[in-house]
Amino acid sequence: MQSLTDRQIKAVQLIVDGAVQSAPKVEGSYRLVKSQSAEGASYVTSSYDCSCPDHTYRGHTCKHMIAVRLQAVLDASGSVDVQAPHTTNGRMPVAEREE
Ligand SMILES: [Zn+2]
Repeated sequence: MQSLTDRQIKAVQLIVDGAVQSAPKVEGSYRLVKSQSAEGASYVTSSYDCSCPDHTYRGHTCKHMIAVRLQAVLDASGSVDVQAPHTTNGRMPVAEREE
């Protein structure tokens, strides 16, 4: 069992926050992903490219790229509505313990 890296966790947070947006003015599979550190800023991101410093200068597979990959999977599955996390039927899986 693999545990998630910090980047993967942050990528999931981006998805939950709705930070991954469709980007109709950008060609191909690029999307806009809102920055978590710079308020009001967004990065242009695909599965293999991102305009953020983490990827541009350090060459990392950044959390934005991971988030875009996750979002693509979610979009393809069509069964998870990440835009409406609060529409529960009285039952919500909440992690109560920090480990
Ligand atoms: Zn990035």
